[in-house]
Amino acid sequence: MAELSMHEDLPFDEATRPALVSTGNLPMHTEIRRLVTEAYELYRDDDSGAVADYIPVLAQASPKLFGIAVVGPWGRSFEIGDVETHFSIQSVSKPFVFALVCDTLGYEAARVRLGVNSTGFPFNSLMAVELNAERTMNPLVNAGAIATTSLAPGATLEEKWASVRERLSMFAGRELTINAEVYASESATNLRNQGIAHLLRSYGRLYFDPEEATDIYTRQCSLDVTAHDLAVMAATLANGGVNPVSGDRVIGPGVCRRVLAVMASAGLYELSGDWLYQIGVPGKSGVSGGIVTVAPGKGGLATYSPPLDAAGNSVRGQLASKYLAERLGLNLFASVPAQGSPPRF
Ligand code: GLN
Repeated sequence: MAELSMHEDLPFDEATRPALVSTGNLPMHTEIRRLVTEAYELYRDDDSGAVADYIPVLAQASPKLFGIAVVGPWGRSFEIGDVETHFSIQSVSKPFVFALVCDTLGYEAARVRLGVNSTGFPFNSLMAVELNAERTMNPLVNAGAIATTSLAPGATLEEKWASVRERLSMFAGRELTINAEVYASESATNLRNQGIAHLLRSYGRLYFDPEEATDIYTRQCSLDVTAHDLAVMAATLANGGVNPVSGDRVIGPGVCRRVLAVMASAGLYELSGDWLYQIGVPGKSGVSGGIVTVAPGKGGLATYSPPLDAAGNSVRGQLASKYLAERLGLNLFASVPAQGSPPRF
């Protein structure tokens, strides 16, 4: 799209104008707890999909791991299963680094430099870079994500890395650290990402040294998180950019809604259309098995389960997210309640 004029955020306090924001509440606490438990029991024995192994150390994760966490807009959490297990955040980091870059450059400048259209290709596609004049395409596929990381504030590799780690930690409400084993394993095997970075550089669509940008990107993907952390990060995006547990403002509301727009169109790679069609809210998956789902104004949902489908999205995570999005009333496109008992969606 050429020059679409973007209005700045309207000058009123959104909290006082509920008619202009997404509406509705989550069900009662006891009901959320019951539904989270139900989703867990329903899918814990589904053993389809395969654990990622293209980053060698990821293959060691148990395919049985499964956790679900919901964090509401006041920071209350509802969790079950392996929600305290640490795993590398991988691609789930991408929307949060994009948020940092949008906050730094402004979301319109970020769109011009990175793009916000989906590719229809796998997450690490070089073909997508070659076939589309935008090259980077969007911040949630590797090309756009490495370009996004290259725009992180800071003049040196270490400064950029510090700003990325610090802002992702604010989203999580605790200090995140690197999983050294994952970082070493991915650094030794990420030739493809280095290739993408060099290709972008040749097109003038990478904004820092290719090797260093890829290194910061690899560090960002190696940050250790739990499903609980991811639910808090998702809830921060659901809450207009304020972390509902720490109370800290992490990004502004205008940036927040643009990040969610990109997640809605590109969060699950080439299956993003299927996700939006079935689940109806922005989401983001990663190859270690995490998925975040954001229901604006209502809360964040995170799932963790390592076995993936062919596009690299957690199988149990997608099933549980769909089940919960329907029963918790998260779908952004639903304007009337589901009918019947059990409800038909
Ligand atoms: N670090 C991984 C990579 O770049 C992230 C991919 C993903 O989670 N889909 O290949």
